[in-house]
Amino acid sequence: MMPDIKSLTLEELKAEAAAMGEQPFRAKQLYQWMHVKLARSFDEMTNLPLTFREKCRSYFAYTALKAVQVQESALDGTKKYLFELADGKLIESVWMKYKHGNSVCISSQAGCRMGCAFCASTIGGLERNLTPSEMLDQIYAITLLTGERVSNVVVMGCGEPLDNYENLLKFLTLLTDENGLHISQRSITVSTCGLTEKMRLLADEKLQITLALSLHAAFDEKRRELMPVANRYTIAELMEACAYYFEKTGRRITFEYSLIRGFNDGERDAKALAAQIRRLNCHVNLIPVNPVNERDFVQPDAAKVAVFKNNLEKNGINVTIRREMGRDIDGACGQLRRRQRKFYQG
Ligand code: SAH
Repeated sequence: MMPDIKSLTLEELKAEAAAMGEQPFRAKQLYQWMHVKLARSFDEMTNLPLTFREKCRSYFAYTALKAVQVQESALDGTKKYLFELADGKLIESVWMKYKHGNSVCISSQAGCRMGCAFCASTIGGLERNLTPSEMLDQIYAITLLTGERVSNVVVMGCGEPLDNYENLLKFLTLLTDENGLHISQRSITVSTCGLTEKMRLLADEKLQITLALSLHAAFDEKRRELMPVANRYTIAELMEACAYYFEKTGRRITFEYSLIRGFNDGERDAKALAAQIRRLNCHVNLIPVNPVNERDFVQPDAAKVAVFKNNLEKNGINVTIRREMGRDIDGACGQLRRRQRKFYQG
């Protein structure tokens, strides 16, 4: 198989160039075209000799995602992109405009095998892992399409990033590389359903990225009803892994908690949640559950959400309520992709 050129580090690219009998500066030029000028093909690399470009075409595969659908929210300008990969698989990414800069939410897998009960991304199972270049290219394509710089990246789209660990790390290396787009590590968040071995491995990398943990319940039995992964790891084990992450990186953990009416939104839940996480340097993001067609979860009303937040705060926990972006455009993970697949498959 031809090497995927946009997934190579500059060092790896230099080694490839040497193997091709080319000078190291050619690697640097290619890298800049791909990761700074965001070229969509070798053809765009106009200052490279035509013969060299042709040689590259025969050596390397070149990732350039195709936007097949864009939805723009009339409420807040959020844009949701449906991208087609080279093998025809579909993924989605979201562009959000905030006061402090533009944020892109990317997918790490086509589909997902974690099986969370409330999530649309997992309904058809895992199709495949995304390559580092396919993760990067979601950001590159959106930068080109919007004409605006991306300042924050969240890996919270379809898929479980820590279930695609090696590619995720490579993606993070390329995204933060000073020779590339050079996004600061502190502007990146990776969200996981809680694969503790991988959380520890990531901690050992000592990156300055934020780790978000999808908790959604403060009792193991309840968590198991929502998330099959909770059968593998207890909340106590998750908390140990979070403490380890903080110890190694000094980065505060974010807990994500989707509020589901009548299921995990009571006072008892808030108290148990506070008790579970109190010892950690952390922050809670409350997300009123996004209704998904195939699922019958309902959001608590705003007053109930406020009470839940208040209960956590009384117990000394930092809380924010996630602003819902793009409610009118299939905001919840995986919904656009599902709709499109139905459309294709009838
Ligand atoms: N697999 C990773 C990242 C993808 S999901 C993880 O589990 O964290 C990103 C976040 O959206 C997770 O917290 C996930 O639990 C949440 N989520 C998925 N479907 C949702 C829905 N319908 N409503 C609210 N949050 C949802």
